[in-house]
Amino acid sequence: MDMQTSFLDRLFESGLLIDTGIDGLYGRSGQFEEVIAAFERLIDKVGGGDGAEAMRFPPGMNRAFFEKSGYMKSFPQLAGTVHSFCGSELDHVSLLQCMEVGEDWTKGQEATDIVLTPAACYPLYPTVAKRGNLPKTGGLFDLQSYCFRHEPSKDPARQQLFRMREYVCMGTEEHVTDFRQRWMERGVEMMKAVGLEVTIDIANDPFFGRAGKMLANNQRDQNLKFELLIPITSSANPTACMSFNYHQDAFGTKWGLNLEDGSVAHTACVGFGLERIALALLHNHGLDTVDWPESVRKALWG
Ligand code: ATP
Ligand code: ZN
Ligand code: MG
Repeated sequence: MDMQTSFLDRLFESGLLIDTGIDGLYGRSGQFEEVIAAFERLIDKVGGGDGAEAMRFPPGMNRAFFEKSGYMKSFPQLAGTVHSFCGSELDHVSLLQCMEVGEDWTKGQEATDIVLTPAACYPLYPTVAKRGNLPKTGGLFDLQSYCFRHEPSKDPARQQLFRMREYVCMGTEEHVTDFRQRWMERGVEMMKAVGLEVTIDIANDPFFGRAGKMLANNQRDQNLKFELLIPITSSANPTACMSFNYHQDAFGTKWGLNLEDGSVAHTACVGFGLERIALALLHNHGLDTVDWPESVRKALWG
């Protein structure tokens, strides 16, 4: 049995995660949720003075916005769409017959106008664009959403439905890169406060296919993505628990996000992987939060 399986098994045995029979789709216990709630309060405390506008979207987004985002160009392998039965009574009869004999009943399902949100910030850009030019101070938003990615895995830190807390900044290049830098420093401090050893490294997104290799290399060469890494299932390959992304003016151009003077906005986002942070805490401090070091408990629960 490798380390990964055993950590997942221990999480199941302790009841912190609840097996659904699907890799990467888990229920969470009250104690697990308490850890996430406490860490989110810490995020609120650290980011609270910045005056971010809070918005919460459900875990599904407008399919038209999803299509326009270009997600299917970059990450078709990760996307999840919502399909429904839209047929007649007769179609219903054949659907049930199909299920009865164990054939593929999903073939007749039709795409709805909703797709599963792949990252918390995706519904934000078209929403802000609709408002017109940004104010002089730019834009700062506080988001949290369940996100879907079709990447089933036995690694408990790689889930198919997980929560991402994000801050998104819109403004000039200098404004948004300062924002990103500030959160890298804050991220390191926050993890230190809860007793976690971290490193920060340059990173890239898993762009699909051969053309994607080029996009990934370009992203790295231009320092567009950094990750804050914490050992969870392997110390040789620590897990990304936060990411810090600078989009240049790509989203500004795509969505028509403009500054007060009409110039295209640059954007950056920082994301906290909430399940991963909870897992990092549980892995490092033990599966019972009562036994965690006093300093860690104090940082989380006061
Ligand atoms: P990875 O390289 O591990 O796949 P990522 O680069 O795809 O991560 P982002 O797209 O930057 O991650 O997402 C923001 C944050 O969401 C990550 O830093 C991570 O903490 C969390 N996250 C990403 N994918 C998952 C997942 N499958 N399960 C749990 N958390 C995730
Ligand atoms: Zn984002
Ligand atoms: Mg990924």
